[in-house]
Amino acid sequence: MYYAKDISLVSCSKLIAMRQCSAKHNFQFLEDYEESYNPSQLRGLAFHSALEANYLGKIKTKMDNITLMFDVFDTIFTELSKFTKFLSESPQDVKNNGYELLMLYYQKVAPQVQPQYVELIFTIPIERSEYQFTGRIDVITDNDIIRDAKTTMKKPNTLPRLQMTAYNEGFKYLFRRLPDRIFLDYAVLNKHPYCLSYELDIDDYDNNYLMESITWYINCIKSGLDIPNYGHWLCRKRFCNVFPQCEAKFGNPILD
Ligand code: SF4
Repeated sequence: MYYAKDISLVSCSKLIAMRQCSAKHNFQFLEDYEESYNPSQLRGLAFHSALEANYLGKIKTKMDNITLMFDVFDTIFTELSKFTKFLSESPQDVKNNGYELLMLYYQKVAPQVQPQYVELIFTIPIERSEYQFTGRIDVITDNDIIRDAKTTMKKPNTLPRLQMTAYNEGFKYLFRRLPDRIFLDYAVLNKHPYCLSYELDIDDYDNNYLMESITWYINCIKSGLDIPNYGHWLCRKRFCNVFPQCEAKFGNPILD
């Protein structure tokens, strides 16, 4: 996840957090917040770091390296475990599931990806404002395809179009042309794990929605919006990492 802490930087993570709950956004991005994770986030971050290391090497070697992927996964998992709240889950089970997803991704998706750029950051000035829009594209292949990878517990109901629209904009800004295609690759952890790829077509509706979201976000920041959104389905202890700060500041107990 690309946090972009600087207040003048607008990112998709910030837009999504603000839409979910302005109080949560402010704890995460405006206050002195110490990162913490739930087990799914931990597995996802370790998975993502493993892919990043593999693809950085693959730019030159043109080979995937499963040993490196497992090593990086293990290192990041161990490091971030210190900041992870395990409730009913066993850390070893979470780790083993991550290994399984990584092996699947290595076998099914990685062979299709020859990276040209990995974790490429873009920063676009926003007209008539002191803000900039920023993001980090996972992978751009040598044939101009954007690829983003995620882990998930079940087949996604909706796709993160806002994030992929941002990548499309970032690509246009950096290279003065459109990407050839955009793919989202999911490693799905259910009873029988599998990988699933979606191709997205970004259209005018997506572009307008991104622009409107950025304008709305800047207005929220300028107005100092700071309201807990108790009605959101992610407003639960197991989903919201800042619930202790929220309870302390606003006084309402958060549901498990
Ligand atoms: S616990 Fe709920 S209301 Fe509080 S910050 Fe998190 S999402 Fe917002």
